[in-house]
Amino acid sequence: MNQFIRRDIIDMQPYTPIVPFEVLSQRLGRTADDIVKLDANENPYGPAPGALAALQAGRYFHIYPDPEANVLRDKLADFTGVPKERLLAGMGADELIDLVLRVVLEPGDAVIDCPPSFGMYPFSTAVNAGAYVAVARRDDYSLDVDAIEAEVARQPHAKVLFVCSPNNPDGSVVADADLRRLLELPLLVVLDEAYVDFSGNSRMAWALEYDNLVVLRTFSKLAGLAGLRVGYGIFPEWSIPHIMKIKQPYNVNVAASLAACGALDDKEWLREKVSAITAERDRMVRLLAPFRYLRPYPSRSNFVLFRVFGRNALDLKRNLEQHGILVRHFAKPGVDNCIRISAGRPQDTNRLVEALREIG
Ligand SMILES: *Cc1c(COP(=O)(O)O)cnc(C)c1O
Repeated sequence: MNQFIRRDIIDMQPYTPIVPFEVLSQRLGRTADDIVKLDANENPYGPAPGALAALQAGRYFHIYPDPEANVLRDKLADFTGVPKERLLAGMGADELIDLVLRVVLEPGDAVIDCPPSFGMYPFSTAVNAGAYVAVARRDDYSLDVDAIEAEVARQPHAKVLFVCSPNNPDGSVVADADLRRLLELPLLVVLDEAYVDFSGNSRMAWALEYDNLVVLRTFSKLAGLAGLRVGYGIFPEWSIPHIMKIKQPYNVNVAASLAACGALDDKEWLREKVSAITAERDRMVRLLAPFRYLRPYPSRSNFVLFRVFGRNALDLKRNLEQHGILVRHFAKPGVDNCIRISAGRPQDTNRLVEALREIG
């Protein structure tokens, strides 16, 4: 019956999901509390207390949510300093990546990605039948702007460019001058700022200056709401009515919206956690320095990418797993034999160091 399936979807590579936490904890014979989860850049301190309080106080879970997410967007306008009319919320930034592509891509249109970067860009490009064009980053993970410009000159159908800053998986930040050059191209630039809370210097306000810029952010990382799925972004004025038309009306559920608003009321907690997490990231790098087979890349985010020398990174990941420590392993071009470790709490880093000593 495959005749009914879209041909491009039959040929599509499935997205490699990480093993669910519950499954892994059972497989490893450890309770959830005994697992040090440093594989998905979540907040190790859990959700912002303001988010939990807002959920507890919630009363209207039996009522459909506001399709325009007005309460949340008002708060986001306050938080970001950009007009509410330009903000959209989604079921995670992931949904907004999909929506941007759904609203702009026509058959034959190309999407430019700069790998190594976030896996949802190729995934959503494929789902939306876009042509995927990769312009690899340089060895230090900076963008090769010359090569991107050359590619755009060659690709009359290039429409969208994804720029992740700080970039997942290495944590580097795009330079102002590079971003300005890219914004001069005849493309819609999607700047993914999922980790900008940790680096500072958001370019959200640039979207008021450039009408070909989308800037995406999320409550999944710093605010600790990855499980509730809520993200947002600033979009060009011309795109908003069309995205509103095609999005699922109830994309941001009542719980997600309440929790996000509650987190925004808890700015002091968020500030504290940024300091704690970035300090712990730097402490992790210092403590891992004696392990000479691990070489860190400089990160402005809440994780560190390590290149593994003289041993197999996948074996290392599996050994750590046996010690109850989860890290992310990569074997793709540009991040071959690498692991990415999220910054945890001090006790998490200590467990990591102990485990590495035992592994030897
Ligand atoms: C985690 C992540 C996201 C996804 O955010 P959600 O709001 O959880 O969908 C988007 N972009 C990057 C680069 C990420 O690492």
